[in-house]
Amino acid sequence: MKITFLGTSSGLPTKERNVSGIALRFDQSSDWMLFDCGEATQHQLLYTSYSLPKLSHIFITHLHGDHCFGLFGLLATRSLNNAQEPITIIGPVGIRKLLETTFEITQTHFRFEIDITEIDPQNTHFKIPQASIEAIPLEHSVSSYAFVIQKKPKPGKFKVELAKAKGIPSGPIYGKLKRGEKVTLPSGEILDGKDFIEDPIPGRKIIIAGDNKNPELLLPYLKNCNLLIHEANYTEKVKALVRDDFFHSTARDVAIVAQKSRIPNLILTHFSARFSLEYSRARKYSIDDVLQEALAEYSGNCFLAKDLETYLLNAQGELSIKERK
Ligand SMILES: [Zn+2]
Repeated sequence: MKITFLGTSSGLPTKERNVSGIALRFDQSSDWMLFDCGEATQHQLLYTSYSLPKLSHIFITHLHGDHCFGLFGLLATRSLNNAQEPITIIGPVGIRKLLETTFEITQTHFRFEIDITEIDPQNTHFKIPQASIEAIPLEHSVSSYAFVIQKKPKPGKFKVELAKAKGIPSGPIYGKLKRGEKVTLPSGEILDGKDFIEDPIPGRKIIIAGDNKNPELLLPYLKNCNLLIHEANYTEKVKALVRDDFFHSTARDVAIVAQKSRIPNLILTHFSARFSLEYSRARKYSIDDVLQEALAEYSGNCFLAKDLETYLLNAQGELSIKERK
């Protein structure tokens, strides 16, 4: 599974960080999915190998501009790229009106079908060929969701040794047993294929969360989760300086939940523009403050996302950074 951060800044873009966008591609798949689409997400994609015609699904966590203002241009460009394949867009209630109004007023026409689905309490489960995706409500100033992405389990391995021990010659009988069918041997013994297949291997599970002031809401979903991607807008120190109507998480808030749930991998993103990449006299806060605050609470693998950085989550659920730009 390949995950590329297209934008990692909250609210406004900086020279180092664009606003929110995450690309996700499953192994052996040419299609890919986008999670959030802040302004200029399409510009960021120009520096990657993800092509717009191959974009099959867009999931929007919430309808604040830094998470969706890039949709209009990106979809229009996809059409100019001669894409014919339909695209599915899933997001909070209001996304249909937002898109249809914009495209009507701007007279934007598409060569492909756009299927818009709004998330509501009766409509939170979505299926794609490789995985099931569930939207979990979060706590923010507008409806905001986390997406739990659970890959399909792989069928268990065939117990060759057991088959050999039973004296079954390799050949068509193996094939039937592998498919879980019942087989009658010449001796009259009946074998059940199910006894010859190991338990299915659970698919990888990751959570990509939108803006959220209460990461504890994710605890019930973090069991057996390989990776959590969550905003860490501020550190505790910066939070103390900002307004009271704080609808975001600090690095500490997220790290505590990550530790509690014992998830092995955490990527923090969506950083306030206050955090520069380096300390300087002009900018008091460094992005390293965010990492230090998280590491004080969380003992797993913790990463701070950077724009155009790609992570790989292998079949064993191990996370590594693929390329830096
Ligand atoms: Zn945001």
